[in-house]
Amino acid sequence: MADLQTNLALLEAACRNPRAQLDSYLAQGKKVIGCFPAYTPEELVYASGMIPMGLWGGHTELKLAKSYLPAFACPIMQSNLEFGLNGTYKGLSAVIIPALCDTLRCMTQNWRFGVPSIPMIPIVYPQNRKSPASVEYLISEYESVLVMLSTITGQMMSEKALCDAIDVYNAHNDVIREFAALANDHLDVITPKVRHAVMKSAFFFSKDQHTAIVKELISGLKQLPVYSFTGKKVILTGITGEPDELLDILAENEIAVVGDDLAQEMRQYRTDTPEKGGGGLRRLALQWNSRHGCSLIHEDGKPRGTMLVSLCKENGASGVMNCLMKFCDPEEYDQPFFEADLVAAGYHTLTIEVDTQNTSYEQIRTRVQAFCEML
Ligand code: SF4
Repeated sequence: MADLQTNLALLEAACRNPRAQLDSYLAQGKKVIGCFPAYTPEELVYASGMIPMGLWGGHTELKLAKSYLPAFACPIMQSNLEFGLNGTYKGLSAVIIPALCDTLRCMTQNWRFGVPSIPMIPIVYPQNRKSPASVEYLISEYESVLVMLSTITGQMMSEKALCDAIDVYNAHNDVIREFAALANDHLDVITPKVRHAVMKSAFFFSKDQHTAIVKELISGLKQLPVYSFTGKKVILTGITGEPDELLDILAENEIAVVGDDLAQEMRQYRTDTPEKGGGGLRRLALQWNSRHGCSLIHEDGKPRGTMLVSLCKENGASGVMNCLMKFCDPEEYDQPFFEADLVAAGYHTLTIEVDTQNTSYEQIRTRVQAFCEML
């Protein structure tokens, strides 16, 4: 069993260099499927005997992508396409793109024509989830994905493999939730950057491997005395709490992240696939219908604000930092609603524009310092 620091270093290294993770799986003779954010049905890939790997872009000079995407596409998609076009993602057997927003819908076509060497598998999620037809529709979408995956593996996934994969993913959700709760007792070790690395790294490991590593982390943390944190505590909301420079600024100001509602982090872990309800595909469709509080999923009454207020109360946070992905329409639409709910409940909010291509952080530093004084 590796010690706490060794495991943390392993997860941080995977976030710094996902390409090394990809190369390592390819060297083991495994096929890897790139999974665009968010809510890509990784269980189908896992059950098909391949490695699902998250594609969350990164800092790079945008050159080739400019011929395909307008300047007002979000930085994640700009960099994902740039990496596809410049060969960074070479070796992937396919990518899956969930068409959850206008930019992702455009990405399906841009990828198909711009990166023909890596097949693209689209999936459309139903937004009218109150209709029983939504379940049948989503099952048919999953079946289409499976047919395309079977052309890569040469065989169709079995029902048993899918049920096993669902168990693996539910167990992973469980262990991440346990880590998130325990992390709040060890805010000296689990700084905002470290917390983020533990969550994000899940996209670059097979989920059973990641579960094993996080279990060791938990056991290492349990051996430490509870740390009495005297700084300010916040919840993060948005798509991603990146880049690391932003998280370092929080730490500099003695601000801890004690919970999150980020698409890259807890949004994906808070809803398990139900244990009952039919076959594996139906259960996955029911999981989609149970997901909540996310800008990418239609919900009457916009309950995200209420959910954020509860997160603050449960974790002793005095404010919420909205990590607003640049040019992300779904997040922009949600912002006025949840901010109003938070302010009405007496919580402070700060919106920071997240741009992974950013190189200067002085304005952000000043705004975080002012936010810290209000908390
Ligand atoms: S939801 Fe936002 S961040 Fe995600 S792909 Fe769409 S525009 Fe980009």
